[in-house]
Amino acid sequence: MSVATKDFAATGVRWDLSSLFSSPDDPRIEKSWIASHVEADKFASNYRGKLEEEELSASELAVALKEYEVFSNEGVKPVIYASLLFAADTSNPQLGAFLQSQSEKMSELRVKLMFFEIELQGAEEDYVAKLLADDALANYRHFIKTTRTMSPHTLSEIEEVLLEETANTGCRAWQRLHEELTSNHVYKYSDPVTGVVTELSQEEIVDKFRDPVRKVRQAAADGFSAGLGELERTIVFIYNTLLADKKLEDRIREFEHPESSRHLSNELDKSTVDLVMQLCKERNDVVSRYYEVKRELLGLEELTHVDRYAPLFESNEKKTWAEAQRIVLDSFESFSSEMASAASEFFAKNWIDAEPRPGKSGGAFCSSNTPDTHPVLLQTYLGGLNDVMTLAHEMGHGVHAYLSREQTPFNFNGTLPMAELASIFAEMVTFEKIVAGADLKDKLALYADKIEGIFATVHRQASMFRFEQRCHEKRRSDGELTAEDFGDIWQEEIQSMFGDSVKLGDQHRSWWEYVGHFIHTPFYVYAYSFGELLTLSIYQIAKSEGPSFVDKYVQVLKLGGSRTPQELMSILGVDLSSKAFWEGGFAALEALVTEFERLNREYKG
Ligand SMILES: [Zn+2]
Repeated sequence: MSVATKDFAATGVRWDLSSLFSSPDDPRIEKSWIASHVEADKFASNYRGKLEEEELSASELAVALKEYEVFSNEGVKPVIYASLLFAADTSNPQLGAFLQSQSEKMSELRVKLMFFEIELQGAEEDYVAKLLADDALANYRHFIKTTRTMSPHTLSEIEEVLLEETANTGCRAWQRLHEELTSNHVYKYSDPVTGVVTELSQEEIVDKFRDPVRKVRQAAADGFSAGLGELERTIVFIYNTLLADKKLEDRIREFEHPESSRHLSNELDKSTVDLVMQLCKERNDVVSRYYEVKRELLGLEELTHVDRYAPLFESNEKKTWAEAQRIVLDSFESFSSEMASAASEFFAKNWIDAEPRPGKSGGAFCSSNTPDTHPVLLQTYLGGLNDVMTLAHEMGHGVHAYLSREQTPFNFNGTLPMAELASIFAEMVTFEKIVAGADLKDKLALYADKIEGIFATVHRQASMFRFEQRCHEKRRSDGELTAEDFGDIWQEEIQSMFGDSVKLGDQHRSWWEYVGHFIHTPFYVYAYSFGELLTLSIYQIAKSEGPSFVDKYVQVLKLGGSRTPQELMSILGVDLSSKAFWEGGFAALEALVTEFERLNREYKG
């Protein structure tokens, strides 16, 4: 007997944001901005020129940094609050406007304070070395060092302010145009059975790539490509302009490679990133192995770009919210009681918004918020096993942020490559628990989801990284690229991850055009591959090392962003420049594929 979806939905599970503010009209919001601006003016008159003139002692600088930290802590609260309200109800235009106004206020505050980091970056090496040696600055060493890695690339304050302000009508305007074009574009979807044409948003048409019926997926691909075709000229122009803009800025700031500035903010060496990207390319064989089995299970002659995300089966099993809570807490408990007890607070104190509601933003996320408040999670929980996995993933982020609250604001958030350290780990722990109790068909579906998810983060993002690299390099050496050029590079790089197992048709040539990361945050994508592989490899170490690993791991989570990725990993005995370590991540992935192959044999009986 089938049970209606609504019985499993997390109806009524809403978050409590009162640790931030009580409503958009909360008078504390305006008061906080006024106070921040008064304090910022005071801060500027106290400290402007002081680092330049080398007038601050280590303890005076520590005091200044402590004050400076308060701005970032208090300034982000209204912005975070507004963005959380908006995510919970995107259809409310008042909340959109509220978010916009809070972001603008934050920006005004930032411009007032910009001088401080510029002076910190510009200060003489000897002076800073003396300051850093003093224990008064112990808590701020990492912040000072990472801020100063930008020193060789920082311009004068006048130039920096000029670049900041003109960016609003320069690169940011082009980014916004791309966003507006793609998010408002209407795609025509022609129903393969009735022939009725409906107009769909990008999200809706892309979602049809996961439909079990092949004709539906093909019709979605037709509509998607046709829609992108209408935007192509403009997007090609936008991307060319942004490639040129980056070329210009990299020249002014003296960055050697297009991806150098991203490595700097990720606190990673080029050689480490290159090693991981190279290994991703070398290990495309696991992708082919998986898709060969998938083709067989789908009963198709050949897989194309319309079959990549086709579901194997609908997984039957559903879990209520209470059951999901139990599964996640038990999984966490089996690894670390401290993590489980942190996770239980999210449920007990209403730090999760899981209820399905119209207008609520799609997807799921964890917002870390600030060390003096608490993280919150958002998802739409309908009861499928994939929803349980999403809860586990976001709870991993949540517990990481929860434990990092020991840190002060500058040391609170980790860098991007470390961001998935707890989420993917939590997912693996929970995955193993769920599959252990699932029937064969559900097991196959769960493995397929897990493996495809890993391919999407590891191999696909690595292919995208190479796409970006080649586009930036070609723009620098040969001038503007044509739609044809972009299509060639895209097709080559994405095809390479599949080998012969999936054939990407010509229709796929334009599908780079909707990837926001290329436009908004160049070279963001590799952090996904990096983070996933890192965690898979660490997970294997955790399993072989047993309980002695747990304390070290929890300690790393508590350190938040107070150390570089390399420093954090060395606590776990991991060397990020070691090839063997990264191969461990692929071994874990390969083990999943091998098990999937075995389950398939069992299924065929
Ligand atoms: Zn995540």
